[in-house]
Amino acid sequence: MTSTPDLTTTGSTVLLDGVVKRYVLDEGTELVAADGVSLAVEAGGLVALTGPSGSGKSTLLHLVGGVDGADAGTITVDDRKVTALRGDALAAHRRHVGFVFQRFNLLGALTARDNVLAPVVPFKVPFDKAARAGELLAAVGLAGREGSLPSRMSGGQQQRVAIARALIWSPGLLLADEPTGNLDSRTGADILDLLLALRSERGTTILLATHDPVVAARCDRLVRLQDGRITDDVDLRPGDVDVAALLAGGGS
Ligand code: ADP
Repeated sequence: MTSTPDLTTTGSTVLLDGVVKRYVLDEGTELVAADGVSLAVEAGGLVALTGPSGSGKSTLLHLVGGVDGADAGTITVDDRKVTALRGDALAAHRRHVGFVFQRFNLLGALTARDNVLAPVVPFKVPFDKAARAGELLAAVGLAGREGSLPSRMSGGQQQRVAIARALIWSPGLLLADEPTGNLDSRTGADILDLLLALRSERGTTILLATHDPVVAARCDRLVRLQDGRITDDVDLRPGDVDVAALLAGGGS
């Protein structure tokens, strides 16, 4: 049996340069969901993408993760020029990125173990799958819950399973789209604690879209979007920024 590989990762660097994404709506009008976005994120960074609904947060996550294509500009993750990737190379990029969603997106008929392993089902992998799932579930605080179905778990536990699943390929980058949006504030805080711990332990870079000022305030950096453009980009590490006021009023 092949031993489980080292789960430590190196955080990815992420570079966006003049990224544009347009959607053509039914009436033929064009909507610019990303309007020349440039952003550099260092390895191990934890960046909150904030802004009102429809401001382009999810669009940016989809573009960086390679699940949607940009119309102009470049996106580079580590040494991969995502905007130039096609076919197998693009699929490989998606495996280097972990996704976490607001609604968890677990498969209801599968156990926690099989949900965690779902992304590797079509692949031969150099590790023991059951051992790996157990290790990841333990890492997110769910040791012993391998056989549980999502319907037997709380929302917070389901999100933990989803985070374990996102880590299956040891990604250097985690893209989290409103990961606390379906949870009460206490459980949401626990999930954020978990993401912060994973970032410290593994060095994983995290881009996190959130409406919630409390969640945003715990990140290193706040990037605020409006109509597909960055309106504010604030370093929160000094700890003296009033995030709620910033998000309520605009301007920094
Ligand atoms: P946010 O995550 O900040 O709520 P989104 O990135 O989801 O914003 O959306 C940005 C804009 O792009 C919105 O106006 C949204 O309606 C539009 N949009 C997103 N995806 C599509 C799509 N597949 N087709 C058409 N319009 C879309």
